[in-house]
Amino acid sequence: MHEYSIVQALLERVESEAALRGARSVARLTVSIGELSGVEADLLAKAYETFRERTICERAELEIRPVGARWECPSCRTPFERGALLRCATCDSPARLAAGDEIVLDRIEMEVA
Ligand SMILES: [Zn+2]
Repeated sequence: MHEYSIVQALLERVESEAALRGARSVARLTVSIGELSGVEADLLAKAYETFRERTICERAELEIRPVGARWECPSCRTPFERGALLRCATCDSPARLAAGDEIVLDRIEMEVA
């Protein structure tokens, strides 16, 4: 499952960040998941529950922030309404995705010894 490999990469990243800062444990993680990222928040949470055992994240809560898709014109930056034709009425440029395809580790709260 796609979400499993994302969680594994996430945990590896958190472990190296924690090691770098001499952290004893991690209290909380915040991850932004775009609506068009292809990641299911439910599956991600489930995968996290499975993989966090015996890692530095064993007691860390995972907060998932959903990010809605947002489109804009690459020339004039006009935002597009949801469901609108994805071409700018002013510039005739095709819309560009400005947000919604991301998978970002926003924040790690850790306890430093
Ligand atoms: Zn435009």
